[in-house]
Amino acid sequence: MEKIKIPKATAKRLPLYYRYLIILNDEGKEKVSSTELSEAVQVDSASIRRDFSYFGALGKRGYGYDVKNLLTFFKKILNQDTLTNVALVGVGNLGHALLNYNFKRSNNIRISCAFDINKDITGKILSGVPVYDMSELKKQLSDQQISIAILTVPSTAAQKTADDMVEAGIKGIMNFTPIRLSAPSNIRVQNVDLATELQTLIYFLNSDKSDKTDK
Ligand code: ATP
Repeated sequence: MEKIKIPKATAKRLPLYYRYLIILNDEGKEKVSSTELSEAVQVDSASIRRDFSYFGALGKRGYGYDVKNLLTFFKKILNQDTLTNVALVGVGNLGHALLNYNFKRSNNIRISCAFDINKDITGKILSGVPVYDMSELKKQLSDQQISIAILTVPSTAAQKTADDMVEAGIKGIMNFTPIRLSAPSNIRVQNVDLATELQTLIYFLNSDKSDKTDK
């Protein structure tokens, strides 16, 4: 399939659209309007129409989008046809929770191997996933052709571990540590900082409250 260059903001919204389209399709709905989509995924309908326009004319004005067509299209774009194996590095509390999380239910992704330095867990299978010692990182990633890894080691070990991952051939890192990693420009890093996200939520709630008391 031809590669389409799309803005990052659009790329981020694709999984949202995709998930909602699955629901519509399961309900047997054949058409969806950008207004309906907009309400469901909380993205304004102008952005939705613009996003969809990057993929060519997928819908007609006043007629809506064909759910099945969209679904097939997004499935290809999001690589949902192929199962993507990812690695997990650091099987602590958070790492373990992610091992138990069923990514496959809505996305064709699975954690197929995990790595740690703790001898109590290496060489074992946890939640169906083999846990290897860090010394096996390079070999396993290349054997299993894995280029994406989730990083859930303690902050103190984050940068060094990320360096090792890049050295072992990782191209994309889902960084759950609060550390802002430095990595070569060809490596993609997605940061998921749960504590900061929560802090932001608390900040907004508090400012909502003070807005009310101000008035
Ligand atoms: P979490 O922060 O996920 O709640 P935790 O508090 O259980 O985890 P941490 O000390 O954060 O434990 O460590 C997370 C995991 O990372 C542990 O299983 C630990 O053995 C592992 N770990 C620590 N250092 C490294 C490293 N350099 N390489 C790989 N794994 C590591």
